[in-house]
Amino acid sequence: MDDLGFLHEVEKATGEKVSTCYQCCKCTAGCPVVADMDIYPHRIIRHIILGNRDRVLGSKTIWTCLQCTTCSVRCPNDIDVARVFDALRKISVREGKMAEKDAWRFDEIFLESVQRHGRLNEMEAILRYKIGKKDLFSDTRMGMGMLMKGRMGLLPHNIKDKKGMKEIFRKIEGKKVRG
Ligand code: SF4
Ligand code: SF4
Repeated sequence: MDDLGFLHEVEKATGEKVSTCYQCCKCTAGCPVVADMDIYPHRIIRHIILGNRDRVLGSKTIWTCLQCTTCSVRCPNDIDVARVFDALRKISVREGKMAEKDAWRFDEIFLESVQRHGRLNEMEAILRYKIGKKDLFSDTRMGMGMLMKGRMGLLPHNIKDKKGMKEIFRKIEGKKVRG
């Protein structure tokens, strides 16, 4: 069902003038992962304008997006498309409509790790992710290979200014940080 308030909701959440999009496709043409998306970026923008809420919030595209901001830089109307996609993820999670639950879970674990250590603790993140999925043993060979080659450490490497990092998260999220 169309939701004519959806455009307003997205514009309010992002501060972006999504309604000014004239479908030039420059965002889609520059996107490095467009081949893996189920709906092209410019079509997502169009669906927002048309109020196709469920289609947008249930799309794989918003989870495939790498947040590289190429689309945002290319947009002739200065629409920060990457920012819009980030907001769509948050709304999608809030409403339980995520097409890619694993991607969301990993995203969450990644940010919690950066928040705690100042950078990603790969071992901790992978273990948390795999325990959550009840799938400890797939990818074992690849994990061992990464350990042997020193591409992944067993212990966290904390940055010196962990307090500063927590302050950054506090400012971004406007809420109490973990850890
Ligand atoms: S921010 Fe996302 S949608 Fe935009 S170009 Fe990068 S990957 Fe594609
Ligand atoms: S580049 Fe901007 S104006 Fe062009 S289709 Fe994408 S969002 Fe719309």
